[in-house]
Amino acid sequence: MIKSFFNEFKTFAMRGNVVDLAVGVIIGAAFGKIVTSLVNDIVMPPIGKLLGNVDFKDLYWNLDPSKTLDGGKVPQSLDQAREAGAAVIAYGAFINILIDFLLVALCVFLLVKVINKLNRKKETEAPAPVESKTRECPYCLSEIPKAASRCSHCTSEVKPVGQASPANG
Ligand SMILES: [Zn+2]
Repeated sequence: MIKSFFNEFKTFAMRGNVVDLAVGVIIGAAFGKIVTSLVNDIVMPPIGKLLGNVDFKDLYWNLDPSKTLDGGKVPQSLDQAREAGAAVIAYGAFINILIDFLLVALCVFLLVKVINKLNRKKETEAPAPVESKTRECPYCLSEIPKAASRCSHCTSEVKPVGQASPANG
């Protein structure tokens, strides 16, 4: 029973699309990290600088401005506002994730476009001509295999066609 379970699992795991899927998930996870880094480390800092030297993912609306940190200090950052227990809308972080998603979607779109283009190219390529395996018998004009040395219709001896002659030695 264990053996049949193992065999079933092996059949499942060795199916090509499962392996393809696994590769896709692994590449996708690594790719997602690259895009997140691209957004957080390369795209957003200049935008934050343009917006007045702010860390973009630190942008927020404080819905409880009356809430203060211990000692009556007014929260100055997202972390401090959260520490003070204020309700915040962290729209900067949300926009970061949104841009993250848009970049991933754009990359997937471009990838699919390239794959579609390659597939179309393959389809428009002329199919290789199928070589006929038969010929006409010179005596009775019936269709006989090219390799035949005797006609199956009129039993005449014919010369085989298109076969490599056996090598000597
Ligand atoms: Zn014949």
